[in-house]
Order: sequence, then structure tokens, then C-alpha cells
Amino acid sequence: MRKLRLILGDQLNDRHSWFARVDPEITYLMMEVLPETRYVTHHIQKIAGFFAAMRRFAEAMSEAGHDFVYLRLNDPENLQSFPANLTRLIDARRIERFEYLLPDEYRLDQLLKQFAAESDIPVAAADSEHFLSSREEVGAFFRGRKTFVMEAFYRHMRRKWDILMDGERPLSGRWNYDAENRKALPQRLTPPAPLNFDHDVSEIVDLIRSLEIDTIGRIDAAHFPWPLDHHEAQQLLDHFLANGLANFGTYQDAMDTGSPYLYHSRLSFAMNLKLLHPREIVQKTLDYWQAHPEAVDIAQVEGFIRQIIGWREFMRGIYWDTMPEYEQLNYFDHRRPLPAFYWTGDTRMNCLRHAITQSLDLAYAHHIQRLMITGNFANLLGVHPDAVDAWYLGIYIDAIQWVEITNTRGMSQYADGGIAATKPYVSSANYIHKMSNYCRGCHYDRQKRYGEGACPFNSLYWDFFDRHRALLGNNPRVGMAYRNLDRMDPEELDNIRQQARYYQENQDTL
Ligand code: FAD
Ligand code: SF4
Repeated sequence: MRKLRLILGDQLNDRHSWFARVDPEITYLMMEVLPETRYVTHHIQKIAGFFAAMRRFAEAMSEAGHDFVYLRLNDPENLQSFPANLTRLIDARRIERFEYLLPDEYRLDQLLKQFAAESDIPVAAADSEHFLSSREEVGAFFRGRKTFVMEAFYRHMRRKWDILMDGERPLSGRWNYDAENRKALPQRLTPPAPLNFDHDVSEIVDLIRSLEIDTIGRIDAAHFPWPLDHHEAQQLLDHFLANGLANFGTYQDAMDTGSPYLYHSRLSFAMNLKLLHPREIVQKTLDYWQAHPEAVDIAQVEGFIRQIIGWREFMRGIYWDTMPEYEQLNYFDHRRPLPAFYWTGDTRMNCLRHAITQSLDLAYAHHIQRLMITGNFANLLGVHPDAVDAWYLGIYIDAIQWVEITNTRGMSQYADGGIAATKPYVSSANYIHKMSNYCRGCHYDRQKRYGEGACPFNSLYWDFFDRHRALLGNNPRVGMAYRNLDRMDPEELDNIRQQARYYQENQDTL
């Protein structure tokens, strides 16, 4: 029976059971299509990185003997849509059965389900064999409970996969070392130089430009730094284990103008394209720890593994349990546009200028920059979650909706009213000053709440709690903010409110 199998751009898992043997009856199809480059304005590195990794994957698979059809963006026979290209190939090759791997994006899942429903030949979907939990697992785990709590699911995953366990108990007696992992970067420490690959992706970048595809950000096309296959992803993992893991947890929340990556792994792009399996990451991390017990302590290992088997799987489970309603949620009814400087970095707020410029340069910012600088500010200001989502989905090299929207709309904007996070992650300048060197030399004064040069985070922070009292006042996790607000002198509060209004109305000039 002649079969056609579709591989999407984020399904580059060369260890998938589909590739265990070469079958001359099976044709694989991969395609670059214009709508995928345009559903948001993507960073140029993101489009180039996806296409470069896809091309490399198809080449490697063809060399291994599989029959691969790869449609480039400018191929004359490319009809620029998944269904149209599939139909053409099914007819041309007299295909008798179509198979696809379960997509991780809701919109593609729907599109392929519809294609299957309308197809004249049998269609089947296979598991992507990438995740450590099923699409339904988080939803089923929390069914009947009021809230989703990451820590409970994480413990379930530790037990399920027997990771850092001593029988039924956590190894060393503790589940979580997060409380110890919140330090700023001390001056004496210099984070490791990143491992950058040196790919020439000029041909793809020229193609993107010749087709006038709208992009954001910058790229050095002759020196593209991200890994493009399983082997390079392994090298990046090895580099992280040898150079980053020992300090990963401790400085996970730190931010520093001199170091965009600090001790972070930069593995999200490789993982999200499925170049690297989470099980391989966890196993290698445990092996490294076992081989270097004097260099790496359990707090770092646990902190890193929690991101991989906890947060990543948890966010995916929330996505599948709540879509498509999730992408409409706007708990605070925020409606402001995104400030123009999010697209340029042109602001006098040092923290935002730095985090945004870095994102435009590198298509990367680490978690706390995304959560507590750009996300925090958008939420305090009251930006519509649709605009915030579109920005995050475009700008980061690792942005795919299942992991972007749950982190953005959920964790950072609290637009889901508390599904992904138990409280809004917002802060005044205090936290930013504690965790970074951004406030030093900033145009704004981190200690002022209002008046000339007052840091915008301060007035907006208090105003945020003030104006959302009806929605947040009963949340015990933000009780301290309300107790402080209630103790505030009425005149002080009035000045703060006025300052916040002024900053909201002049958001593009900050
Ligand atoms: P490390 O800090 O080294 O962490 C290791 C790995 O753990 C990451 O590669 C990632 O796979 C996983 N991980 C860590 N935190 C999370 C998390 N909260 N959710 C899911 N996985 C996690 N991550 C994406 O992969 N794609 C996104 O589009 C994305 N958008 C985000 C938007 C916002 C507003 C926020 C607050 C976070 C977002 N994240 C996203 C999560 C996280 O910021 C990135 O995974 C991380 O910064 C990637 O860098 P790294 O590989 O160096 O991560
Ligand atoms: Fe950001 Fe305010 Fe600090 Fe400036 S003073 S870097 S705006 S937190």
C-alpha cells in the first residue's frame, strides 16, 4: 500500500519509530508554506532557523534511504498550503493511505482533522513520541480540582518516570529547591561563553527577503548560531552540562546587562523542534551529576529537571485542556495596545530597552526577562493579551503556540484568571533592582513612585492592584500587596494613580 506521511517543521525527531526502517512504499512530505511565515510577524532568525533545520532533516533522511519530498518556499509546484500540497501529491503518486504525526499546535491539529474528514483515502494520526505526558494527562490529573498546580503535576511526573526518587520519597527528602534558587549574579562571576554554531543561512534569508515576508529582528546570516540537528543539539546540551548546570538554579532568576544567557541552557529551540528528546536531556543531566558530584549539587539538578519534566509538560497539558477557549481569555479586560518600543527597544527604561534590544538581536531572552521585564510591564500597563501574545509568538526563536500562549497569556499576563499560575507575576522596581544591574544608570529613579523621573514600574504596580481589587483582593498569594495598599496614605495613593494614568496615556514616550 502506497503511503504518504507528513512531517511538520517542529517534528524533526530522527529517532521516531517511523524512521526505524526504510520502506519503499512510503513517501514523506515536508513543506515550507507562506501562511506559516505570516500568521504573526516572526523574527527573521525564527523563520531561517526552522527552514534550515527542516532542510537539513529532509536531506539526512533522504541520505538514509527514505523517500522524501521537500517543497521549498519558491518551488514552482508548491501550492503554499498544507491541504493543497497534500492533495496534489496524493493524486500524483496514487497514494492509498495518509498519515501524520499529531501536531502540537491547535490550528494545525484542526486543519489536519478537517483534511482527514474530507479525504477519500484512509487517514491516521500517530504520536510524535516526544513528550513525557500525553495531551490529556494534565487535564485528567486535575479533573475535579479548582486549580492547576504545577508542583503537584511535577511530583506526579517524578514518580511516574522515577526521576530523583528514592522509592516513593524524593531523593534527599526534598521535592523542590526553588527557594534557594533566587540569587542575583555576583560581580565575581563571569557566565560561560555561549556555544554558537556557525551556519550559513544566507540562501534562506535571501529567499525570505525576495518574497517580501515581513519579519522583525536582526540576523547575521553567515553565522547563524542555533543548532540545526540532533548532533548539534547534543553538543549544546553537553556544553550546558559542563559549563552551566553547576550554577543553573542559583542564578536562574538573575538578569545582567553583560550576559544575555547567564547559566541558561538555550535548549528550547532544539527541544521545540524535537531535535532533542526530554528523556535524553534528563538522563544526561543525571549521568553528569553522578560523574561530577563535587561540582554540581542537587539544587541545580532538581531546578533544571523541574523545567523539563515539570513546567514544559504542564504548560502543554494546559494548552490541550483549554484550547481554543484559552486564546480568548482576558481576565482583567485589558485593552491597551502594545507600546511601540516593543518593536524597536527605543525606550529610556533601561530594563525594557535591554531585554527588547537583546530579543531583537538574538531572538532570545531568558525566562525572567520574559516574565518580569517585558511581560510584567505589559500587564501593569494593561495591554490586550492578544497583542502581547502576538509579540511573544513572533520574537522568540523557540515560540510555538502551545508553550508561548500558556506562558504569556497564562503565567505572565494572568489573563486566564489563574489556570497556569496562582498569582499575577508583577513587580515594582524593587524586584528588578534586586535581581539585575538594570537600574544602575537608568534614566528613571527606581526609588520614586511619582514625580519627575519616577520609575514607571512603581506607580503602575500599585495602580494595578488598586484597579483590580475586585478580581485579586481575595487571592491570599497577593495579600501582602493589598495590606500595603490599605496602609498607604490617601494622598500618596492619589499621586500614584495620577502618575500611572500619565504613564498609560503617554506609553509610547517612556
Ligand atoms: P532554560 O532556562 O535553560 O530552561 C531549560 C528548558 O526548560 C527550556 O529550554 C524549556 O524547554 C524548559 N522551560 C523552562 N521554563 C519553561 C516554561 N515556563 N514553560 C515551558 N518550558 C519551560 N518557552 C518556549 O519554549 N517557547 C516560548 O514561546 C516561550 N514563551 C514564553 C513567554 C513568556 C512570557 C514566558 C514568561 C516564558 C516563555 N517560555 C517559552 C518559557 C521559558 O522562558 C523558555 O523556555 C526559556 O527561556 C528558554 O530558554 P532556555 O532554553 O535557555 O531555558
Ligand atoms: Fe527598569 Fe525602573 Fe529600574 Fe529603570 S529604574 S531599569 S525603568 S525598574
